[in-house]
Amino acid sequence: MSSELPLVVIAGRPNVGKSTLLNRIVGQRVAIVEERPGVTRDRVEVEADWLGRSFRLVDTGGWMTGGSELDRKVSEQSAKAVREADVVLFVVDSSVGVTDDDAAVAQLLRSVDVPVVLVANKVDDAAHEAGIWELLGLGLGDPHPISAQHGRGTGDLLDVLLEHLPGTGSEDDEAEESAIGDGDDSDGLVAVALVGRPNVGKSTLFNRLIGEDRAVVHDMPGTTRDSVDTVVDTPSGPIRFVDTAGMRRRSRIDEDTEYFSMVRALRSVDAADVALLVIDATEGITHQDQRLAERIDGAGCPVVVVLNKWELLDAERRDDVLYQLGQRLHFLGDAPVLRLSALSGRGVHRLLPALGATLEQYHTRVPTRRVVDVLRRAQQAQPAPHGARILYGTQGATDPPTFTLFASKEVPPSYLRYIERMFREEFDLGAVPVKIRVRRRGS
Ligand code: GDP
Ligand code: GDP
Repeated sequence: MSSELPLVVIAGRPNVGKSTLLNRIVGQRVAIVEERPGVTRDRVEVEADWLGRSFRLVDTGGWMTGGSELDRKVSEQSAKAVREADVVLFVVDSSVGVTDDDAAVAQLLRSVDVPVVLVANKVDDAAHEAGIWELLGLGLGDPHPISAQHGRGTGDLLDVLLEHLPGTGSEDDEAEESAIGDGDDSDGLVAVALVGRPNVGKSTLFNRLIGEDRAVVHDMPGTTRDSVDTVVDTPSGPIRFVDTAGMRRRSRIDEDTEYFSMVRALRSVDAADVALLVIDATEGITHQDQRLAERIDGAGCPVVVVLNKWELLDAERRDDVLYQLGQRLHFLGDAPVLRLSALSGRGVHRLLPALGATLEQYHTRVPTRRVVDVLRRAQQAQPAPHGARILYGTQGATDPPTFTLFASKEVPPSYLRYIERMFREEFDLGAVPVKIRVRRRGS
């Protein structure tokens, strides 16, 4: 999501209709939704536009006057969002009138140097308009009556909002571009795709991963096309889980067919740095699992394999599944394999460290001195055929590790695989993809 777009923050105490208003404004045009559970409870950011002007829209999740740690955090985050805003939409429930909590929010808003548009919500018909003048007492200008639920007055509200936006012109193209989860790393976060056939336990695992203490979740309405990502804080830094909409929903609809999940999985793998391939161990390694793994591998995405529902297997069956794994997914090489039970939580704690390790490997940077040294030893142990010699090598890029070798003449692929194995071992690259390019240099 472009951070250049002006930021509109929806503020107000809980239940006044903030999220209803956000949905009303974006309609079906939700582009990208980023949720940060734990960090900014329910903070939802979307892109929206009105009359060709694009802006970012944030629902802060509200102010809590309760005394809990979480309440305090939420309020802090909301206050922070307000300070970053270009314009604040301050929503009050006019059917209730001004409460102490509203007054507290108003006080904070008056203290920051940000334009505030006062929104009197739940004015569902003209008869309710009479009461809104009470809101003048908040000291934030004239209230704008709307019904977020029915759409009444929201067009006028958006007109007023536009007047307050910094002049940025139309940014439609940009909005269009970021509407596709294209895996760009602009946010600097590592992206993980959780994939697998229907019913293998992806949602169960995801919900367990995001953790009990961050369990405040917020599902955005979305069409199948729209994707929802979730950022989860881990000891090794924040991780962006790609396309988590389906995993959040408690009762999912039947879009969860094999075909659909395959298409979805591949799309999210394209947007990911690592794929978490979840397999239902009770069914062994199926043909579908195999196909999915092949496609992920083909996309050059490192894989962590999860054998889920492990607690349901007896010892014999466990051996059997591990054997199948070696047979049917051998091409994944040394990909980490985790045996766990998403349902009971057993073994789940090993997942984030395993992801972390894979990511470290993905980002590995090897000094040229070491590359050259391994090349020398490899060729000593086993020289390249036909008198070819690799004279020099260096790591040209990370993510994934990419090496450029300079050779006296053509080096056969079998020899390059040997070199790759050496690199993998010596540089501890695990199962992440490794790319090797060869340049010819006059002998
Ligand atoms: P939030 O806590 O500010 O996000 O509030 P919500 O958007 O979840 O809305 C709280 C409740 O108010 C929900 O039951 C909504 O359906 C209802 N609500 C929101 N906007 C309106 C409105 O314009 N009119 C009426 N009558 N109810 C509304
Ligand atoms: P998804 O379609 O891949 O997201 O799968 P779900 O998370 O919806 O899980 C499908 C079913 O498998 C549900 O009934 C879960 O309760 C069950 N399930 C998930 N993980 C486990 C597990 O580790 N052990 C057992 N016994 N059942 C599990």
